[in-house]
Amino acid sequence: MIKAKKSLGQNFLIDNNILKKITNAVNINDKTILEIGPGTGNLTRSILEKKPKKLIVIEKDNKLAEYLKDNFNNQIQVINEDILSVDETLLFKDKVIVFGNLPYNISTEILNKWILNLKEDFWFDCLILMFQKEVANRIIAKFNTPNYGRLSIICNWKLNIEKICDIKPNAFLPKPKIDSSLLIFYPKKNFLKIKDPSNLSKITKIFFNQRRKMLKKPFNQLFNGDKRVLDKLKINLNMRPQNLNLETYYKLAIEYENLRS
Ligand code: SAH
Repeated sequence: MIKAKKSLGQNFLIDNNILKKITNAVNINDKTILEIGPGTGNLTRSILEKKPKKLIVIEKDNKLAEYLKDNFNNQIQVINEDILSVDETLLFKDKVIVFGNLPYNISTEILNKWILNLKEDFWFDCLILMFQKEVANRIIAKFNTPNYGRLSIICNWKLNIEKICDIKPNAFLPKPKIDSSLLIFYPKKNFLKIKDPSNLSKITKIFFNQRRKMLKKPFNQLFNGDKRVLDKLKINLNMRPQNLNLETYYKLAIEYENLRS
């Protein structure tokens, strides 16, 4: 019996219906698949049933990595590393489908690594990732709603995102304390070009620093009250950060870069 390590966020999926839902979300047949945090291999097994061309798994836990090597033989390639220190773009020639049931405490770092710094030649066909439900709801939130904020703006810049399903604690062993959600991310064909993504990060940070306050203060801080920008983007300073749609934030980042160049 393998004992779950709390430090590595080990909650293993045991619900077969959920496992099916996850692997039915995309066409896996003959595709190259990367699975992050395979654990004891429950999702790995479901993926293999769909006959991928190749399955590479990245598992940080040494014991689990050994266990996977012993149990799956040559059906999978096991990489015993920390996903945060691997350059996954070097692992394959094809575009991949990524499955990740990762610990919640590294989900923000993963979002930074894979989403904010995403190059234009997307290295994946899609990402299927599990999040704490509350975080997932912030990622997919629409403007004018309370969950809308930095996470929604940054994640939706280059990607289309859909929720596949919510998952209750009893689908896992040991049971986590919170509900989870599974999201799928697809590359967008067209997105506004922002030269340096850290500008989008900076702007959204300043705008959402005080999400209930009017836009006046953050706008003046970033744009010195430049009225041309307000007119061009149809922004009224009495609005609040959540009232500006996604595109307006991307355009604001571009205006901010123009101002500085
Ligand atoms: N996908 C499996 C296990 C999920 S638990 C299932 O659904 O049953 C999360 C897994 O991620 C654990 O196996 C844990 O050891 C692994 N993990 C945690 N941090 C990691 C990291 N930084 N890089 C790679 N794997 C990691």
